[in-house]
Amino acid sequence: MKQFSFYIVSLIFLAPQMRTAEPAPLQGYSADSARAERQWEAQFRAIPDPAALRAYMQRLSARPHHVGSAYDRENAEWILSQFKEWGLEARIETYDVLFPTPKERALELIEPTRFTARLAEPTVADDPTSAQHAEQLPSYNAYSIDGDVTAPLVYVNYGVPDDYEALDRLGISVKGAIVIARYGGSWRGIKPKVAAEHGAIGCLIYSDPRDDGYLQGDTFPNGPYRPADGVQRGSVMDMPIYPGDPLTPGVGATKDAKRLPLSEAITLTKIPVLPISYGDAQPLLAALKGPVAPERWRGALPITYHIGPGPAKVHLRARFNWDTKTIYNVIARIPGSAYADEWIIRGNHHDAWVNGAEDPVSGTSALLEEARGLAALAGQGWKPKRTIVLCVWDGEEEGLLGSTEWAEDHAEELRRKAAVYINSDTNGRGYLQVEGSHTLERFINGVARDVEDPETKLPVWKRMQLWRIANLAANGTAADRQEARQRADLRIGALGSGSDYTVFLDHLGIASLNLGYGGEDGGGIYHSIYDDFYWYTHFSDTDFVYGRALAQTAGTAVMRLADAELLPYDFDDFTDTIRGYIEEVTKLAQEKREQIVERNRQIDEGVFAATEDPREKTVPPPREAVPPFLNFAPLENGLAALEGATRLYDQALARAAENGGAALAGAALRDANARLIAVERALTLDEGLPNRPWFKNQIYAPGFYTGYGVKTLPAVRESIEQKQWQLADEEIVRVGKVLENAGEAIQGAAAELTRAAK
Ligand SMILES: [Zn+2]
Repeated sequence: MKQFSFYIVSLIFLAPQMRTAEPAPLQGYSADSARAERQWEAQFRAIPDPAALRAYMQRLSARPHHVGSAYDRENAEWILSQFKEWGLEARIETYDVLFPTPKERALELIEPTRFTARLAEPTVADDPTSAQHAEQLPSYNAYSIDGDVTAPLVYVNYGVPDDYEALDRLGISVKGAIVIARYGGSWRGIKPKVAAEHGAIGCLIYSDPRDDGYLQGDTFPNGPYRPADGVQRGSVMDMPIYPGDPLTPGVGATKDAKRLPLSEAITLTKIPVLPISYGDAQPLLAALKGPVAPERWRGALPITYHIGPGPAKVHLRARFNWDTKTIYNVIARIPGSAYADEWIIRGNHHDAWVNGAEDPVSGTSALLEEARGLAALAGQGWKPKRTIVLCVWDGEEEGLLGSTEWAEDHAEELRRKAAVYINSDTNGRGYLQVEGSHTLERFINGVARDVEDPETKLPVWKRMQLWRIANLAANGTAADRQEARQRADLRIGALGSGSDYTVFLDHLGIASLNLGYGGEDGGGIYHSIYDDFYWYTHFSDTDFVYGRALAQTAGTAVMRLADAELLPYDFDDFTDTIRGYIEEVTKLAQEKREQIVERNRQIDEGVFAATEDPREKTVPPPREAVPPFLNFAPLENGLAALEGATRLYDQALARAAENGGAALAGAALRDANARLIAVERALTLDEGLPNRPWFKNQIYAPGFYTGYGVKTLPAVRESIEQKQWQLADEEIVRVGKVLENAGEAIQGAAAELTRAAK
């Protein structure tokens, strides 16, 4: 209670300042409706309550609640009952998905000494839920295939393509070997994928104490970091091909959906995979000989890191129950009063690997407080113009199952109606972190200016800006710092994958944002049994004020989008961002070419033979064909079209905003809004990306070899990175045309706005 009264005092203290400040105009609003909107929003932001957030977390994380568990379903039903109690129209929508769980897991070192891995996370005395072993999912990587393999071990660092290039230079092959990779450096599913491409027959992934264990700080329960037996579970489905149920690509996994046979599910791994703790990894790594690992490969275990292969030989056995399980999405709707067929969608998942207090309940709780707040406003007469759809997803952890199946199931309707999707997932203490569609960059900057940071009492926008300046002082150029100080909007990052926005942005072309606070607390309990209420309330947002800030931020964004007369997309920041991406890919092609020319020259000069230590076995890199120059003109032409259309739209918007936006208030904007929604769809192509047709967005995609990490202008960028020059030339033409299409769509919106505002 003490902390609670503290916040009341600070709110009263700040209130006069808030009143006297001149409110900035709201894009898409007439002056009158902006005034009303600001009042409703302020009323909303007073509602989210840290005590309620804490109670939701305690309830939702009280027992393990993975897909298929009793408590997963109970949580969904409890969330539904809360929604209904608050007066929201809500229901549960179910899907039936492939969900493997472990039947057998074994890992032993059989040569040169013997060691059997524990593969278990022990109870921690002070932490009550860590003892719920009967309900916990054992540590495993979901969608690993079954396997029983025995082979020499090779340490491959993070197991990303660069690491295999380094192994090639050392003359080490993983063919027929079991690799051990550490977590980090990429999304985990990339590690077995790349290992299999290089001929490995099994893959172990362990958490090195350098990355989230004792080198970072005290380990749980004395501190937040990963203890010796803590294991990171997680999906290794090949999500860069397509996420969601492996058996129903592109369609909702309804009861009677047509399903692929298991043997045709291409998103399962090609080799068996098992995640292990550093307690279990240390004896295996210590038994390796061969070259000492390069310095940047070394972790923080008290051993000398060797690469192998062998003499360590391991036996790995993993078998799974290949069951179908029901997942439970909870969906609530607040119908729109003017534009009911335009949807603002807000989502966070509710399922966890185990108790999942941080991932995902810290975000789920914020969404629940938003729902309670919006329902309360509706009871007081607030009527959003657009329909608000609140989604609490199941099955995110295994492969974005709930959101993907729901969006595939409702794809036709979503393509017509969905204006924006706003996601969150885990939340903690610190700075607002925003990634998303750059048509929403200006909009979300505006929202961030109106939310107060709980620690500094600055607007969260200001804190973000100062944090960036501080970071750029260490890692950036003077020009970067100047931009952070002077550009009207702080830049937002692009979205790769890793949470439930993926299907909306990448498959359906719906403008999306991902929001969360963080950056002040580290931790090492991710996807372990220790991500629970005890951990969160000792080491993260312990007083739930950042849970409140997330609810205030996302709730304000949802209201402001739902109430606007004209959807507040902006194309200046978007065009500016695209210009940057085109510069990047142009430079990338040039650098790739120069690198190959230089390396070939060094091979001819005998540089490698002369400078590498003859006592250490190394292999010079192979000569490569010099790539052709690429023609980037189609991208430049696309950009020019985009710039021209953006100018027209800005002129139309400026005219509509004259005289307090009287034109906006009186106009029938249905067609203009529909045109605006169509702009984002114009960024997609039906045929998708090369070799992965599910991914239709031509501006943003998760990298084929990064998994979570984004690749912008992915078709062009990845064909250059993978040295497919012919393909790169073709993709430049296709993506240039996409930019022209987007320009046309923006021009259409400008014309419609001008017509409506007359
Ligand atoms: Zn999550």
